[in-house]
Amino acid sequence: MPFCAAVLAAAFAVPILGQAQDYPEDLLERVRQAADDVPGALPDSINFIKFAESHRTFAAVIQGGTDEPFVSARTAFQVVYPDGSLMIDAGMDETVHRFYGFGRDEPYWPERNDRVQAALSAANLIVVTHEHGDHVAGILRSPNRDSLAAKAILTETQVRTLTTAPQLPEIGITEQQARDYLVVDYRLYLPVAPGVVLISAPGHTPGHQMVYVRVAGGTEFLFIGDVGWLLENVTELRLRPAETIARIGEDPDALMSQLLWLRGVAEQGVVLVPSHDDRLLSRYAAEGLLGDDLVLPSLGD
Ligand SMILES: [Zn+2]
Repeated sequence: MPFCAAVLAAAFAVPILGQAQDYPEDLLERVRQAADDVPGALPDSINFIKFAESHRTFAAVIQGGTDEPFVSARTAFQVVYPDGSLMIDAGMDETVHRFYGFGRDEPYWPERNDRVQAALSAANLIVVTHEHGDHVAGILRSPNRDSLAAKAILTETQVRTLTTAPQLPEIGITEQQARDYLVVDYRLYLPVAPGVVLISAPGHTPGHQMVYVRVAGGTEFLFIGDVGWLLENVTELRLRPAETIARIGEDPDALMSQLLWLRGVAEQGVVLVPSHDDRLLSRYAAEGLLGDDLVLPSLGD
């Protein structure tokens, strides 16, 4: 069995094109300054929505994890400004959702994904943490693809993955389609909106990035995407298990250097938000750090 898994992993692992990078010592300070680069009012609040779940065990998501069940939340985030909004990640339709069930039936709420689509339509700008289907499909496979694409930032590396080695065929795009998006290239970090800075973090995928957000009240958030699937990946400096790393084709050295940096960032009081940590997101909602539903313009109901 382990033999088969290893062969499969070797056959399907996609080489990581980005290189492992140690972040400069002063990166957080520079990101904080860059958050002021784009003038305008800071966001007031941040909301999330869980539109699907995957059911795993801790053993499958963190090195040395137990066989206790782990609920992975599939999520999208809405950064709310006084006069607009920015979306982080884009949800996915049910066809893409089924890919992640490995043949099992896992929870999916189509009406919640409809809310993600409505929030994307209402947003001024859309960014995605990375090029996996559960984060990006909503801007690739949507009845409103053209209008969403025109305000959706993809990085050159994300586009390279989507055009040459998409995670599943359904999210592949052509070079021609890629031109519909706001395709950017940057080395380390890039401010994109008042209070919002992208931070390059290749490792989970070649085009993975994190999103720093400072809200008007002063609270700082870092949306770490899938650098860790749960906060304990960071706080205990534990990667995903070796089989999972191989299956995804991750760069473990890059991920470990990101986990180290993130642990220091958390010690500075920045709120870390992993995309999939269901229990943590519920806790943040209970504490009032994040709203647990998206705010939508009246849909005429
Ligand atoms: Zn993910």
